[in-house]
Amino acid sequence: MRRIPLPRPEIRSGDSSDDYEDPDQVFPKPQAVNLAEDPDQIYSKLQSVNMADRDVFLPVPVWGKGRYNSLCSDDELLDDDNEPISSHRSSWQDYGLSTLQGSVYLPVRGRVLAPPPRDGPSPETCPVLKIGWLDKNPTQGSLYYQRRWVKLDVDYLRYFDNDKEVYSKRIIPTAAITGVTNVGEQKFEVVTANRTFLFKAESDSERNEWVAVLQNFTRGRQEGSREMTSLVPPSFLTPGSPLTPEQQGYLELRGLRSKLYTVVSGDKVFLYKNMEDYRLGIGITSIDMNVGNVKVTDRRSFDLTTPYRIFSFLADSEQHKEQWVEAMRDAIGEALSNSEVANQIWAEPSNGCCADCGAAKPEWAAINLCVVVCKRCAGEHRGLGPSISKVRSLKMDRKVWTEELIQVFLLLGNERLNRFWAANIPPSEALSPTSCSEDRRRFISSKYRQGKYRKYHPLYGNQRELNNALCINVQCSDVLETLCLVFCGADVNCSTGQTDCPSPLSLALAHNQKLQAQFLSHNLNTELPRSEVTGDMEPRHYSPQHPVTHNGFLFKTASMVRPITERKAREEFSRRWCMLNDGNFSYYESDKTSTPNGALKSTEIVCLSVNTPERHGYDHTFELYSDSERLYLFGTDDQDSHKEWVKSITKMFIPSNAEALLRLSFERIGRLKYKDGLNLQSPRVGWFALVGSSLHAYLEDSEEEEEIHLRKLQELSIQQENEVLVLVERGRTLYIEGERKLDFQGWCVGIQKAAGSAGDSLSQQQLTEADIPVIVDRCIDYITQCGLTSEGIYRKSGVNSRVAALCEAFRRDARNVRLKEEEHQVDDVSNTLKRFFRESGEGLFTIQAASAWLSTPVIPEESKKISQYQLLLSRLPRVNKATLRALVNHLYCVQRFAELNQMNLHNLAIVFGPTLFQTDGKDYTAGRVVEELIEHYTDVFEVDEQQLKRQLDEITVIIKVREKLNLNSSVPASGSAGDFICTVYLEEKKETAEQHVKIPGSMTAAELTCEILDRRKIQVREKDYWSCWEVSQKEETERPLHHLERVLPILHSLGTDSHLLVKKNLAMEAILVYLASKVDVSKHGMVKFREERSILGLGLNTGSFHDRYFILNTVSLRMYKEVRSNRSEREWQVKNLRVYLGIKKKLRPPTCWGLTVIYKSEKQEKPEKQQWYLCCDTQTEMREWFSTFLTVQYDGNVWPVDAVQTRVTRALPVDTRHAL
Ligand SMILES: [Zn+2]
Repeated sequence: MRRIPLPRPEIRSGDSSDDYEDPDQVFPKPQAVNLAEDPDQIYSKLQSVNMADRDVFLPVPVWGKGRYNSLCSDDELLDDDNEPISSHRSSWQDYGLSTLQGSVYLPVRGRVLAPPPRDGPSPETCPVLKIGWLDKNPTQGSLYYQRRWVKLDVDYLRYFDNDKEVYSKRIIPTAAITGVTNVGEQKFEVVTANRTFLFKAESDSERNEWVAVLQNFTRGRQEGSREMTSLVPPSFLTPGSPLTPEQQGYLELRGLRSKLYTVVSGDKVFLYKNMEDYRLGIGITSIDMNVGNVKVTDRRSFDLTTPYRIFSFLADSEQHKEQWVEAMRDAIGEALSNSEVANQIWAEPSNGCCADCGAAKPEWAAINLCVVVCKRCAGEHRGLGPSISKVRSLKMDRKVWTEELIQVFLLLGNERLNRFWAANIPPSEALSPTSCSEDRRRFISSKYRQGKYRKYHPLYGNQRELNNALCINVQCSDVLETLCLVFCGADVNCSTGQTDCPSPLSLALAHNQKLQAQFLSHNLNTELPRSEVTGDMEPRHYSPQHPVTHNGFLFKTASMVRPITERKAREEFSRRWCMLNDGNFSYYESDKTSTPNGALKSTEIVCLSVNTPERHGYDHTFELYSDSERLYLFGTDDQDSHKEWVKSITKMFIPSNAEALLRLSFERIGRLKYKDGLNLQSPRVGWFALVGSSLHAYLEDSEEEEEIHLRKLQELSIQQENEVLVLVERGRTLYIEGERKLDFQGWCVGIQKAAGSAGDSLSQQQLTEADIPVIVDRCIDYITQCGLTSEGIYRKSGVNSRVAALCEAFRRDARNVRLKEEEHQVDDVSNTLKRFFRESGEGLFTIQAASAWLSTPVIPEESKKISQYQLLLSRLPRVNKATLRALVNHLYCVQRFAELNQMNLHNLAIVFGPTLFQTDGKDYTAGRVVEELIEHYTDVFEVDEQQLKRQLDEITVIIKVREKLNLNSSVPASGSAGDFICTVYLEEKKETAEQHVKIPGSMTAAELTCEILDRRKIQVREKDYWSCWEVSQKEETERPLHHLERVLPILHSLGTDSHLLVKKNLAMEAILVYLASKVDVSKHGMVKFREERSILGLGLNTGSFHDRYFILNTVSLRMYKEVRSNRSEREWQVKNLRVYLGIKKKLRPPTCWGLTVIYKSEKQEKPEKQQWYLCCDTQTEMREWFSTFLTVQYDGNVWPVDAVQTRVTRALPVDTRHAL
């Protein structure tokens, strides 16, 4: 939260007695609270008064008082309460924020003449409970009532000048209303803590209606307020005092002689008369920023424009202005990206009404129950606790809304769901949008905690059948049926009986049922509805730690301070009575003794590891590690008891936010310190579980579980004298620190083992990102670079001893094998690949499916044959499928160059048939399969022909360069062949700065940069952002390559007037600082746009620059004719854009801060290329756009986390080839 220092009050004599209380002292300042956290904690946070912040707050200024006494009474500066209409109309108009029609300064600049767009985004999304004309009480000394248009919704009671006005004169949070009373003569009072509002209706019956709805609405609140305080985050209670203001302070609204206390919070801007009012939540109006736009008008002033009005603000200083502008722009961004998810979810019509009470435009959802609910119902859902209902906001919890989760909500929808959840509701129990909190609580608890109204599944009560049905159903797309099964008792964590897919979740994933998987993953720990819970209407307080108790006998050795390397015999164990209670694990001499021999608190346990059976004298053992570096070994012969203990102990020491780890069958689980991303300064705490070849993690600040595929790591090393384990994934590096030696050693050994190959089948190998064994990828890459012209490639045999050594090296640690032409012979590598396939455990086609593949060539009709191949392909395990695709692609390329290597289709098939099917090669059946796969490669694998063509072009270039080198160069052919040689300049294009560099296919921009700097012996200092640039002289543009971008394809695409240049990126520091300050990645604003148009293909440029409004988010860039446009004129996928700095001067860009953008669509039917230009007003603007493009295109990985990493030469998988 940022605060602007308040303006020094203009204290007048007599007014200096400052008897205002510091608001922080009275009401605790709202703090940032995590909605997912324990409500009790939220409550205690609210209770704690942050004294440290007090000094920041200056006393509330009292300057308004004296000044306005002459004009109006001490209240209602902007409201006309104090001013009888007849007498003072003109004077209050001076204050600006009154009606649209009569404002003194608004009509010229401020007023927007166009009527509000009818179908446009309405600033009002809350369901209106009651609306109508009322007369508001006259002010002191006046007899006249004022006619007001009054509107009540869930959050606010507001009144307006008339029924056309969008911005209220007064906004009172319903939560601030303490009483509503009938005072006779068609009148009623609305009472708040410090003010009473008197209204008069046109009739008694109308008055009674208002009183009834207000009372009904506020009574539930007040009665439930004690529970509400503890269960509901404060935003529910005090919508008027925003939870975490982004910016707050006094701002002058032009034309108004006083300053307003202005608060930017979330996607709204609130205006208050002063800070006191802000504290009480009673404001003037709120401005929804989804229709807003901010424009700087002068050094200290700026306009907030909406379709309905322009608010002209004046800040105290230029610096403050910038802070306000930025905060308001952020709020716009927030509003725009916020409504994105909601609008998507509401696309299903029945999601437009609350699943529980029917209120319109519900903005919350229970993501495990799959219902969309309104704010009031969401409050009650939250009261059920996250084990029953996981409540998330459609607008604020953006991270949770993955594409799949949104799809689940669209697929199901409130209406279909209610046919299950609400199949049997007695009319007397049903809710309406105006139901009171008490009714809501009762209904929602009955509906979801007890499952009282649900439609029972025919299998209800039969656990085995339910589980069985669940396992079958998750393989198809019927998520609703899965939901019915689960909420009728099917066990989400039941055993499927399949070793490769042990759980319904893994089964769903294996069948590519992503929506099913999404649903299951949110229900792994859900407490099922229990009808037997009756009469328990007390709001249940959710406690994150379920009290765990467990006891029984275990066998224990003496505790140790070193890892256990030897087998512990039965004699070394002693029988102990063990108890888990109250967060303590203690062991006793026997079940009769009352003093324990020893005990471990849950907070002391840092790791638990499960040993493989029969490792020690007792069959089933586990190890506990304490933070004081001791190791305890426990054992039993009873497998079930072992399982139960492991489950109970882990449940005790794993915190609730990471408890999803408990569902895994881990070998090791515990907490470790780690660093990653931009946070390399201070290590944070993460919870990790090692399962097979995966490391699952709950990292601090992240709600989502992360899974790291250890066999897919690009690098795994132990650094700094065994104290840091470095895991390099594509695009990110995780450093795990050895906080304590003992358990860290165990983690290192376990992770290293899990990251290596586990056997000889394909899936047990170290894999690339694309799920291809590293050995296969490296060999194919090498042959493509160096072996395509080698005569008889794959038929000639290599030197046996060298092939064996290479196979062994790959088997040991494929990741660290680098094939180099100087060191390795083409035929040795080709035979290594063949030997790997021949010896791989179950073969590429798998033992079960091999015969089906072998019988396919006899199918006479070609189209049927291809379909059969496709069917068989689709049934292969993931890794086999990816590998077969990569291999056939490779063989296809090899035979395309048969005139050079003499290996045509048939020759290759003879070699690879028996190799891949692991047969003796006596008949040609196996060869026929391989031959047909290569022949029909594009059909069977549905290959993008464009991409294939590019790949072949690339190979042709490689071959040509090799030929050239072999003919012309004095360098021995084997020395430099295979790589592209190119000229790279250092810092500027001149002959003396020229460097000739060999560019292997895998070389990244960062590697090239290092190579150049190394050659010139240039030391890289901190904050020297050396980059490789693509420079076009003709277009007058340049672009820094991304550090992971491969150079070779760029080289191929460069025209003759372009070159590569290595120089520092001077803007990078500013880019990183800007990005670090952003909460979300999106940007929007006005930019001048011009399109490249050529007339009759003559390349004549026409057109000029026009103002357009752009919105850039993580997926697309959209262009609007103007801010208020509802529909975008154009939309581009960000991934298809390439953004260059600069615009050629010939086009006469209005400023020098321009970007040239090239759009290339990859669509098969109609490849498209466009070029257009964006021109910004300032360098900062341009830099922000450019930064946002970068971070969107590279998932936030704009600069390598540590410079050292870029120096590690490593071959990245060649995307263009495997992505076919
Ligand atoms: Zn509702």
